[in-house]
Amino acid sequence: MRGAVALALIALLAAPAAAREAKPVIVLTFDDLPAHSALPPDTTRVEIAQKAIKAFRDARVGKVYGFVNGNQTIPEPASAPVLDLWRAAGLPLGNHGWSHLNLNQVSVADYLADIDHTEALIAPLMKGADFHWFRYPFLAEGDDPAKRMEVRKALAARGYRIAQVTMSFGDYMWNEPYARCVAAGDKAAIATLETSYLRAAAETAAATRKDARALYGHDIPYVLLMHLGALDARMLPRLLAQYRSEGFEFGTLAEAESDPVFAADVNPSLPPAPPKWQQMQAKGLAPTPVENVSKMLDSLCRPPSNPVPQ
Ligand SMILES: [Zn+2]
Repeated sequence: MRGAVALALIALLAAPAAAREAKPVIVLTFDDLPAHSALPPDTTRVEIAQKAIKAFRDARVGKVYGFVNGNQTIPEPASAPVLDLWRAAGLPLGNHGWSHLNLNQVSVADYLADIDHTEALIAPLMKGADFHWFRYPFLAEGDDPAKRMEVRKALAARGYRIAQVTMSFGDYMWNEPYARCVAAGDKAAIATLETSYLRAAAETAAATRKDARALYGHDIPYVLLMHLGALDARMLPRLLAQYRSEGFEFGTLAEAESDPVFAADVNPSLPPAPPKWQQMQAKGLAPTPVENVSKMLDSLCRPPSNPVPQ
């Protein structure tokens, strides 16, 4: 027995430090199903979803929640099968409101009606599986504390948990330029989009981990905000490989959000936790800066008659 313990101890000491440490967990979540951002001329919404689903399967990512805005099916009825494809692949749907309202700009009654409208669309598709996850559009939780609490209580009464975000590299910013660059046939610009996308993801992952370790003393589950856009779908195989090579393992939303750091989001009848930047400020910490590429992205593939908006 003593020998076995000694052997185990030797094995533990011999293992490299990285192998002894638990791998950080990243959870992919996709917003704005079934139609996000501009559609390049060479593809369809269904093809975008098919590419994303194949990438999830190939990388064995597991159950990726897709957050739905029901109103997208009205201007783009051809996008509706995306929701069926998602479900047929065994992937769950969550609620992102019907028309992507900003809670800071509308009444509580209108906001809740919007949530209920999407629930009527996704509940039958989920056929008894758990769709009670809500992702705030624009991540806007209400700028007035009373209004914010009213919506949280209403979400709790409906059985919802808040699908909080703990990592985002602003993936949505690449999709419009990509559609422009495909239309323009500008391969060099598309290559710039691809490299800058992966660089932003890597830089954000490192910065987010650094901040979490400074604030909490350890990694937390990283719930990554993504969008179902054309460049996202194109980049997913490379993006997922990059996260793996950085040491991440893929987890599920339910597992991740059972971590104590998400307690106030899992039960929205509780008061909200202060935002991360505020928690950092209270400890004399500052968030790690990352490169801002929005102007560079905005400038790509603009015809002379349609310059960058000022
Ligand atoms: Zn959204």
